[in-house]
Amino acid sequence: MAEVIYPRMAVIGCGLIGSSVIPAGVVGEVIVADASEAARARIVELGYADRVTADPAAAVEGADLIVFATPVLAVGDAARQAAPALKPGATVTDVGSVKAAVSEALSRAVPDHVFVVPGHPIAGTEQSGPGAGFAELFQNRWIILTPQDRQDEPYLDAVQRLADFWTALGANVERMDEKHHDLVLAVTSHLPHLIAYNIVGTAADLEGVTQGEVMKYSAGGFRDFTRIAASDPTMWRDVFLANREAVLEILGRFTEDLQALSRAIRWAEGDKLFDLFSRTREIRRGIIAAGQESAEPNFGRDHRPAGSDGETKPQ
Ligand code: NAP
Repeated sequence: MAEVIYPRMAVIGCGLIGSSVIPAGVVGEVIVADASEAARARIVELGYADRVTADPAAAVEGADLIVFATPVLAVGDAARQAAPALKPGATVTDVGSVKAAVSEALSRAVPDHVFVVPGHPIAGTEQSGPGAGFAELFQNRWIILTPQDRQDEPYLDAVQRLADFWTALGANVERMDEKHHDLVLAVTSHLPHLIAYNIVGTAADLEGVTQGEVMKYSAGGFRDFTRIAASDPTMWRDVFLANREAVLEILGRFTEDLQALSRAIRWAEGDKLFDLFSRTREIRRGIIAAGQESAEPNFGRDHRPAGSDGETKPQ
């Protein structure tokens, strides 16, 4: 039987990540607030929470851990609504894909008597909604915590307790500076999503190639891009707006490298292409060796009902 780390936990925004973060055994009571009526009904149906409400303040009352799992740009508003009801000594965290902007929004919104420890689990799928969550999502994945620059013991204890919580969910915990996080993620996640959105958009717009042909002849590479480009529009709009600086910096570098590739193709510099493709193949092998190659759902463990009905939201 797992040890209870937080007697009461509140999850604000209970979609794919919010529902996956509700662990079996390591929290006593779970209260959920979600803005979406459909999501609230689904959470009740799935039995994820002891109480479900639309009001963040009602959800956080008496909670020892508060996890904001809304889209990035909604965290500030939700935290402002919750602020008056936060219990002194509670830990406030989030799961947002951007850290500097969210950390600032959280710190501004909440009172000094709580501990703000922002976080980002490096795990997810292209699905949305509470029905898409699953307990194994964080197994053997990284959770990056970006604690504030504080060395007092109560704060360090709060960070450690949150790290223990994530460890209990099967994740590996890493601490990182928030700006560094945003740059790293701009390379490893945000830019790849932008490329996927762009390439699928370009293919769909190409004159002379019909939509039907794009579907019919979509080979492995393009199919993989379409999966990524099916990711939630609200979430990804917010990521690019909140991590604008880092994304633009990496995009500039990417564009230069793409120009170099284009030149190599134009001048038939096969060696250059071969060298790059060999290097990138090694990177892929390294990712597989590190056990980080797939985030596929694996249903059937834990207290949650099996099955996924995650919906891709309309634009
Ligand atoms: P999701 O499935 O779309 O769930 C978000 C939920 O939050 C929705 O039910 C949404 O309702 C609700 N919400 C929006 N604003 C709210 C507010 N002010 N108060 C209460 N609830 C609110 O999103 P997700 O994929 O779980 O992503 C959540 C967070 O995790 C994002 O910050 C994202 O950057 C981060 N993240 C995502 C992934 C991933 O792969 N998806 C991975 C790592 C981290 P409405 O539908 O009505 O807006």
